[in-house]
Amino acid sequence: MKYQAEALDYAYDALEPFIDKLTMEIHHDKHYAGYVDKLNTALEKYEHLQSQPIVELLKNLNDLPAEICRPVKNNGGGSANHALFWKLLKKDVPVGGEIAKALAEKFGGFEEFQKQFTDASARLFGSGWSWLILNDGELEIITTPNQDTPLSVGQDPILLLDLWEHAYYLKYQNRRPAYIENFFQVINWEQVDKYYQEAKSNKARKQ
Ligand code: MN
Repeated sequence: MKYQAEALDYAYDALEPFIDKLTMEIHHDKHYAGYVDKLNTALEKYEHLQSQPIVELLKNLNDLPAEICRPVKNNGGGSANHALFWKLLKKDVPVGGEIAKALAEKFGGFEEFQKQFTDASARLFGSGWSWLILNDGELEIITTPNQDTPLSVGQDPILLLDLWEHAYYLKYQNRRPAYIENFFQVINWEQVDKYYQEAKSNKARKQ
């Protein structure tokens, strides 16, 4: 059994002009598919691991055979992070639902949340991701290097932004701040709200 790359449920040009068609094609079909392929390659000799949800592999990296620990961390992380990311991109979805209230409560307003998320994203050095997570019931903004993921420590992602240059370089080159600013034009807040509600029910289940 092999892991499959998830198809986009929208066209490559659906996010224009904020994220361009060519970037989406290369990002999804080459970079993301590459992570999934390399994850499958890493697990080739370990059939008993291939049927596990990727999240379970990422939560138990230390239990893996030493030779595949790093490839699974990098490529399993790359597979899981992108699968979450594709689903929360959509134009023209206003902020709403429970997450809107929760952000206002936690950060004192949406604009302050946007400012803090933007600052954290701009400060990340090198390749990685910025995240809004639910950590033990609290919303938090964090960043991770490489393909490291809060999934591996049991934190629930609510919103995430790919800050690898492959996510924006064709259109934005060195202008990461412009990419971050435009990301706010393509956030599917209905999906963010879903992730938030799932995270809250996960927390309830764990208690
Ligand atoms: Mn990426």
